[in-house]
Amino acid sequence: MSRKTKDTDLTRREFVTTVGLAGLAVAGGGVTKALAATEQPPAAAVKAQTVSKRKLGKTGVEVSSLCLGGMFDTINNQLLLKQARKWGVTYWDTAESYGNGLSEEGMGRFFARNPDARKEIFLVTKLQTKGGNFTERLDKSLKRLQTDHVDLFFIHSLTAIDELTPAIKDWAAEMKKAGKIKFFGFSTHTNMEDCLLGAAKRDWIDAVMTTYNFQVMNTPKMKEAVNACEKAGVGLVAMKSQAGRPGKHEVGGPAKLELIERFVKRGFTDKQAKIKLIWENPQITSICVQMPNLTILSANVAAALDQTKLAREEVESLRRYALECQGDYCAGCGNICQAAVGGAVPVNEVMRCLMYHHYYGEPELARLTFAGLPEEVRQRLATVDYSRAERTCPRGLAIAQFMRQAAEMLA
Ligand code: SF4
Repeated sequence: MSRKTKDTDLTRREFVTTVGLAGLAVAGGGVTKALAATEQPPAAAVKAQTVSKRKLGKTGVEVSSLCLGGMFDTINNQLLLKQARKWGVTYWDTAESYGNGLSEEGMGRFFARNPDARKEIFLVTKLQTKGGNFTERLDKSLKRLQTDHVDLFFIHSLTAIDELTPAIKDWAAEMKKAGKIKFFGFSTHTNMEDCLLGAAKRDWIDAVMTTYNFQVMNTPKMKEAVNACEKAGVGLVAMKSQAGRPGKHEVGGPAKLELIERFVKRGFTDKQAKIKLIWENPQITSICVQMPNLTILSANVAAALDQTKLAREEVESLRRYALECQGDYCAGCGNICQAAVGGAVPVNEVMRCLMYHHYYGEPELARLTFAGLPEEVRQRLATVDYSRAERTCPRGLAIAQFMRQAAEMLA
């Protein structure tokens, strides 16, 4: 069959090939169920299969509950951007630092070729505080994105709320007034709970993207921080949803096996179950996931479309798995280990590089992120005494071993 559906421009074969790859793992899920119900799905049925939206805090804007993380080659993946839009993944996240501007450039190319797309996409970009000259850099980002504004602007990778200086507050207000940004916030994967609590006390923060996954979402402090943000109307977006670890090997104990067996029976992969667990919390508006190819995009879209709730036993098995592998997961509480080494090494930033290398399978990204650390930090990495940091680390990580590994592999 080669007839293209009106709404997707995909043949049924193409649709099944992309969505069905994941759909096979989502028995009873929305997309595959809909396709199985009709030999030749009517365009309207396909059109209805778009990812749902949720309100982003006090901004009042509804954004897709699945966000396209843009840390990949968007220039050569225009089809993926097109498909994301068609499946309703209309919240796109990029940053100046992703591919040194190339991610923004690819999205900009898409907007230039599809002029009607820009108003559908909730577009986010980010700048790190290091490098200064925000206005000039934002202007360059907008130029690469071929747009005159972003819907949400994030300060990239905040590690402490004090990094949001009064000057940044004034700058955000100025950019909003100039129409270059609609909303303002930050992303954080270090000391997230403190950053979130700080955001809740600042009425000029509209939204925060934070590390949030089955490993960290149930701690009392994270629950307190999320509740505070919800109360203050700060929109929350989850990232690092798979709880990737800096270690080389996937933890494969009895809890992991039980988890896989349980989810396979229900038709999910464990990866899909991990993001479904986050969606079950209505306080989280969206989940930002790196989706560099159609297989991953379609797996996540299938998980988002699937209406099956996780059963209590499934949530419990994820908790057991979290406990089993917590000794291999760096929880981002960087102020603890960094203080223990007298500020000599941002341990959890190095852990993040190892996570990109081992868990994401992205050696280039790992090396690039590592190269972004100050040279003196990289030089001293293997020589610092980490014994106190290891004693204070709540996850009991073998920090010295990881730091030596990073020095050898990523330099
Ligand atoms: S190494 Fe330990 S103390 Fe440091 S951020 Fe990771 S979990 Fe927290």
